[in-house]
Amino acid sequence: MVALMGPGGTFDMAVAALQRGCDSVFVGPKGWSRRPASDELEEEEIRDLIHWARPLAKDVRVAINVMPNPEEIPAFLLKVERYALWGAGGVMICDPGCIKLVRERCPDLDIHVSVTAGVFNARDIRFYRELGANIVVIPYRWGTAELEEIRDETGVSLEAFMFQTVKRGRICPGRCYSSSYFLISHDRDAAGKDHHVGSASRGGSCHRICRAKWDLAIDAQDVSGHPDLKASPELLLWEMPDYVRLGVDRFKIPGRERSVQLVADICGFYRRALDHVLAGDNDVSGFADEWNEIRVRWTRERCRRDDARIVHAQAS
Ligand code: SF4
Repeated sequence: MVALMGPGGTFDMAVAALQRGCDSVFVGPKGWSRRPASDELEEEEIRDLIHWARPLAKDVRVAINVMPNPEEIPAFLLKVERYALWGAGGVMICDPGCIKLVRERCPDLDIHVSVTAGVFNARDIRFYRELGANIVVIPYRWGTAELEEIRDETGVSLEAFMFQTVKRGRICPGRCYSSSYFLISHDRDAAGKDHHVGSASRGGSCHRICRAKWDLAIDAQDVSGHPDLKASPELLLWEMPDYVRLGVDRFKIPGRERSVQLVADICGFYRRALDHVLAGDNDVSGFADEWNEIRVRWTRERCRRDDARIVHAQAS
């Protein structure tokens, strides 16, 4: 079975994604999933969501993909064991040591290698498989050529994001720390968890500074105008038939920071498009108009959120 997974930035968003046809939904616990707290869930919400979804034969997966420091490891493991006990389908992790620990403690839990692990090649995938991961999220930078190369030899399930940076290869998810050089603040909560706001890997969220306009200069001489550091990511459509042909097992829709209505519409759209391809029809051109309309709404909401984060960081 090929699974479609939607985003759950809030409890209501997760429910909407599942109701609009997703088989699975991913959520993040507050302070542990590289997003602002507004797009993460409390523990009780994660528990209630799992219990709500299970009778419907849908599952909930938890992105717990920050890099815990040594003092945070017990709290990290406690959380993962709790999610497994509640019936979560899997967890997304990026730290190799944590993947090994979770596999030892939770032998039946799916472990996704988070896209933020920054996988580069088949050897990396084998490394994570040996640690105990059984699903790898394909880097946004990859195209079908890379998938052809690895699909038969890595022995793990493949999960593809339904979005992609247009100019592939420049930014590797999870390997950018520029935001934390720009502005960082630190807070430690009552449970001893660090929140470094400005560092996605360490329990805060990035300020999206790659989306700001920068001057590039050498010795005070402007050398290139205002370069775009990162191309705007695009929702995918045309790649879907190839991904299915190449054995992608799971499709992941991003958008924990978008509105519930937009996420619901995107999930419904991809449910219909994926069912169309799975039924054996690789011509997705009939979905193009709706895809274009959704892309416009997606870009509008993304710019609004990203711009607000940059402005907030610059003013701080
Ligand atoms: S600054 Fe841009 S590239 Fe770097 S982590 Fe943030 S969103 Fe990603």
